[in-house]
Amino acid sequence: PEAIVVSELANRMAERVGDVVKSLMQMGMMVTQNQTIDADTAELIIEEFGHTVNRVSDADVEQVIHEVEDKPEDLQPRPPVITIMGHVDHGKTSLLDAIRNAKVVAGEAGGITQHIGAYQVVTDTGAVLSFLDTPGHAAFTSMRSRGAQVTDIVVLVVAADDAVMPQTVEAINHAKAAKVPMIVAINKIDKPGANPDKVRTDLLQHEVIVEKMSGEVQDVEVSAINGDGLDDLLEAIALQSELLELKANPNRAAQGAVIEAQLDVGRGPVATVLIQNGTLRQGDIFVVGEQYGKVRALINDKGERIKEAGPSVPVEVLGLNGTPEAGDVLNVTSTEAQAREIAEYREKAAKDKRAAAGAATTLEQLMANA
Ligand code: GDP
Ligand code: MG
Repeated sequence: PEAIVVSELANRMAERVGDVVKSLMQMGMMVTQNQTIDADTAELIIEEFGHTVNRVSDADVEQVIHEVEDKPEDLQPRPPVITIMGHVDHGKTSLLDAIRNAKVVAGEAGGITQHIGAYQVVTDTGAVLSFLDTPGHAAFTSMRSRGAQVTDIVVLVVAADDAVMPQTVEAINHAKAAKVPMIVAINKIDKPGANPDKVRTDLLQHEVIVEKMSGEVQDVEVSAINGDGLDDLLEAIALQSELLELKANPNRAAQGAVIEAQLDVGRGPVATVLIQNGTLRQGDIFVVGEQYGKVRALINDKGERIKEAGPSVPVEVLGLNGTPEAGDVLNVTSTEAQAREIAEYREKAAKDKRAAAGAATTLEQLMANA
């Protein structure tokens, strides 16, 4: 165990706090129930009361958060999650805005204001699509390195007046490394200097062969400015999504990935979470990275409070004890003790790792200076 407050220790052992205080006194420690005792003392007390010391291990964490394997018959179709990538100024933000604005029903609550770094739209043919706003290349990479694979489809934006640029190539490499299918959106076709075929030819050099070049990667000409081709792009995404046969089990404890998180002055720590499996509900207890909490409120992309969020739904989660990091995985647990133990275990593991890294550097420096 970690250092722990006496009352909390009593609570976790299901013993009376007065008895624990008395026991500590007999050991020569004059503490009140609100004081913290160190881990070694806690361990003695735990044994004194005839309980076993429970050390959380990687294996325990794995077991708690992956308790249930989904059976094929429990899986249901879920919307695709799409990330738009491409070179700076090729129109990623404009395209995201254009799609959102085109698909928001006039007069809808919240209007065109986007509240969180992700949103859902419904296409004219009824397909639901979830777009992620935040992951630029850096976020995409850091999320992947944290084990959160959040994207099902990458839309690669290439400006028709600029063709393939360094960050275009980076995006292609990310998508390939993550084995995520790509759709090429050839943007800015409204511009006088637009040359969509140059984009298609350039892409060949990076082993991206679009349909118009007899390949298998869908390519769509669009203009984020005047809206041309937007519906074609959405249909291309819906088609790609059907091929992927994306599924999840809405009837299980939720698992999700943090897209962004911040400490809000009025609301405390707030995380935008993309639900990846299961359904997250108000009141659920969860661990997320090194933090834990109990869902106090869920807020959707339109700023509305909702009671639950299922697979592929991006949602703002309130009720955290601290601010997690983008890419952290959220898991609902059955008890608060479980959630806290996993969070504390992870925090300690991260600390130990940093300390070890620090020690290694010092040693290296010593060697270098010797
Ligand atoms: P990002 O850096 O990829 O997010 O690119 P932005 O969306 O910020 O767009 C960069 C610039 O290109 C802005 O000035 C946009 O107005 C402009 N732009 C984006 N899409 C189009 C388009 O389809 N046509 C034209 N003419 N300009 C565009
Ligand atoms: Mg941008």
